[in-house]
Amino acid sequence: MSPLGEILSRRIAATGPITLAEYMAECLLNPQHGYYATRDPLGAGGDFTTAPEISQMFGEVLGLCLAQSWLDQGAPAGVLAEAGPGRGTLMADIWRATRGVPGFHASMQVHLVEASPVLQRAQAERLAGVPVTWHAHVDDLPQAPLWFIANEFFDALPIRQFQRAGAGWREVVVGLAEGRLAAGLSPAAPLADLAHRLADTVEGEVVETCPAARPVMQALAQRIAAQGGAALIVDYGGWRSRGDTFQAVRGHAFADPFAEPGCADLTAHVDFQALALAAPGLVASGLTPQGDLLRALGIDARAERLAQRLTGAALEQHLAAHRRLTSEAEMGRVFKALALVCAGAPLPPGFAPAPAVEAVR
Ligand code: SAH
Repeated sequence: MSPLGEILSRRIAATGPITLAEYMAECLLNPQHGYYATRDPLGAGGDFTTAPEISQMFGEVLGLCLAQSWLDQGAPAGVLAEAGPGRGTLMADIWRATRGVPGFHASMQVHLVEASPVLQRAQAERLAGVPVTWHAHVDDLPQAPLWFIANEFFDALPIRQFQRAGAGWREVVVGLAEGRLAAGLSPAAPLADLAHRLADTVEGEVVETCPAARPVMQALAQRIAAQGGAALIVDYGGWRSRGDTFQAVRGHAFADPFAEPGCADLTAHVDFQALALAAPGLVASGLTPQGDLLRALGIDARAERLAQRLTGAALEQHLAAHRRLTSEAEMGRVFKALALVCAGAPLPPGFAPAPAVEAVR
């Protein structure tokens, strides 16, 4: 077992099982042994890759989307912020692509929210020359008009899992079975937070909640509702949590999430409805498949333009990256985007209003 596995086993033996959220938080961000706290998972020999690492086009078109939203709202002085910026690639591409938008760079301070010291260093290197301020929490962002983006950030926030049992729920907890960490179930209890899920779940069905996402959304909502701006959230998931989506990835393959805590990336699908509901005062767009959004923002034309300068293997790689980001069989449909703006502001380009059935307020 990993060193963190030993620590958690001793703790559980002494004080009993822990929630999946506690387990995930330790595995990802324990200061000595946490997965993100100790490594760059996106680097050479890393465990997974992400859209901004696949192609510069992802950040370019999303950067212009943010800049258009800023223009639509009167081009105020404000903050351009990203949560969970990884290696800083997305923000570097956004910053480069918006160079030509008159006044954008002069009006914007760049703020990054990053918990991992290792990744903060990678971001500082990648964004050399860009004036950047770092924070540990979204709540530390300044009170100012805010254009916010996050790609694959919310999937890394710790989740809790509950299994339907009659009119109550049994929580999935992490305990010990024959000396090894293993998932178990707590006794059934009613749960006010999940009262609204009694109508659309059946006995034994699993739903997930992400308590850590709520304060993040509240901090965004409070700033954007009061001062203007927009939040763009891209991740895998759906409109409402359904089933067990907890997973571990190591070396680009699925792994056992309990085998070696701290050594694998742990994630869960994002419940975008829960994010929208946690942002009172903001208007949410319809949930938009990534492929549709990138195409609406002009990725095909940008891809053609870049292709003109390429030949051979570089051209093949570029075409494959374009396909990977947009194709329904790859990331185009599994990944979704949600935009949130203050009431009365236009949605950013590429986003349509939520259909009535999705509307949350
Ligand atoms: N957005 C990047 C990286 C995604 S990986 C990309 O698309 O490539 C998840 C990122 O979120 C990492 O930077 C990780 O360190 C950060 N992160 C995870 N949990 C966090 C938390 N609770 N607070 C701040 N950052 C967090």
